[in-house]
Amino acid sequence: MESAEIRRRWLSFFEERGHTVVPSASLIADDPTLLLVNAGMVPFKPFFLGEEKPPYTRASSVQKCVRTPDIEEVGKTTRHGTFFQMCGNFSFGDYFKEGAIKLAWELLTTPVEHGGYGLEPEKLWITVYQDDDEAEKIWRDVVGVPAERIQRLGKKDNFWSMGVPGPCGPCSEINYDRGPEFGAEGGPAVNDERYVEIWNLVFMQYERGEGTSKEDFEILGDLPSKNIDTGLGLERLAMILQGVQNMYETDTLKVVIDKATELTGVRYGQAQESDVSLRVVADHMRTSVMLIGDGVTPGNEGRGYVLRRIMRRAIRNMRLLGATGPVVGQLVDTVIRTMGEQYPELETDRKRVETVALAEEAAFLKTLKAGTNILDTAVTETKAAGGRVLPGDKAFLLHDTWGFPIDLTLEMAAEQGLTVDEDGFRRLMKEQRERAKADARAKKTGHADVTAYREIADASGATEFTGYTNTEGEST
Ligand code: ATP
Ligand code: MG
Ligand code: MG
Ligand code: MG
Repeated sequence: MESAEIRRRWLSFFEERGHTVVPSASLIADDPTLLLVNAGMVPFKPFFLGEEKPPYTRASSVQKCVRTPDIEEVGKTTRHGTFFQMCGNFSFGDYFKEGAIKLAWELLTTPVEHGGYGLEPEKLWITVYQDDDEAEKIWRDVVGVPAERIQRLGKKDNFWSMGVPGPCGPCSEINYDRGPEFGAEGGPAVNDERYVEIWNLVFMQYERGEGTSKEDFEILGDLPSKNIDTGLGLERLAMILQGVQNMYETDTLKVVIDKATELTGVRYGQAQESDVSLRVVADHMRTSVMLIGDGVTPGNEGRGYVLRRIMRRAIRNMRLLGATGPVVGQLVDTVIRTMGEQYPELETDRKRVETVALAEEAAFLKTLKAGTNILDTAVTETKAAGGRVLPGDKAFLLHDTWGFPIDLTLEMAAEQGLTVDEDGFRRLMKEQRERAKADARAKKTGHADVTAYREIADASGATEFTGYTNTEGEST
């Protein structure tokens, strides 16, 4: 089943069951606590928090999501992308646990010819929160899942919360058994690659109080009205329904890998290392296009930095695969063609998206070679002196003059067996920021005695490193 059809079925299934279909919101969150939308529930947050009254009691969406904290997993696990689409259904004081569980089971197991996804019930494993007897009972007695395929997990995996005070509650997840070629049996509690998590059902039923961490807090009592928030990864379901082993082999991502193969001559399946690079390219180029499509432009702060980091990492991986000239134009074109069906604004905005992407590639290619030489020399010097840590001032120079995001430097140093003095790097970044601030103040007050500062700040072209703002906790 094609990704587009998975999406269509999702929306029509829930629409037929009284849900209002809500289009995906922009990736740029309308939410000061969040850099980018990372879950389907984000646009509905004011309803869940009771700040606004929803105009419906049931809704459904397929939401664009970006999770930069997952960047390290990309290409290495079979199931993580920095961009993915989360299919969701939501109840605002309408149906609760039993309703949500029954709907999920029906959609997953109804045969394809009757509008469902046709998954074999025997392959589905359920997790519930350790204390949630009610959910376990529904899965076992109402739906009929055998007790041995229901597992209990702790707060880390199966309890959700947002804000203090704010809603919280147990989750229940549906996982698909991909079989022995993915390793040991024993259920999702022991093997998350074999029993791949596809759908998370969140039961918002309590009010959360103060606490010391995400796993240790007080529960104040029941919420006046109970809500449902669910999220299913479209790419993960596509992986299962398309009978492939990796989400990068599904229809919308494989074409990008194929394009990268065409541009580099490196075949998918040739070697583990190049396969990871091909997947990184496919993922990061898609994420870049989706971010630019929603109006993000590359920069040194916040969202712009996320985009810069991701795009530059894609470009460097194309280099590792052997590309020598510009590649971004063709990769962007491929992504727009495949994603344009679901997001027609990409086609409408094609010119702008291409212009932004090509400019970023040109800027990076200008400094990549010289920066790489500087890095290689610094690595050689460090090693010759018997060191294992690249000095912070080198990382700063690479960032400031050669446009190397710090994590690119970290990655390239690691490939040669070195770590980086990140504290030193951050200290220099902070000093530079302070110089820039002093400069701005001087300009305002007209003090002449800080000219020296201004010169330094100008010469170093003050930029700000903020990294990935870690307000992107994963929530469904
Ligand atoms: P995992 O444990 O596999 O990292 P998660 O528990 O972090 O997933 P949730 O926050 O529960 O994921 O999100 C709901 C659903 O969204 C998941 O069940 C999964 O299908 C999908 N999903 C989450 N993260 C990703 C990702 N990085 N790439 C693709 N799909 C994802
Ligand atoms: Mg999980
Ligand atoms: Mg989950
Ligand atoms: Mg995760």
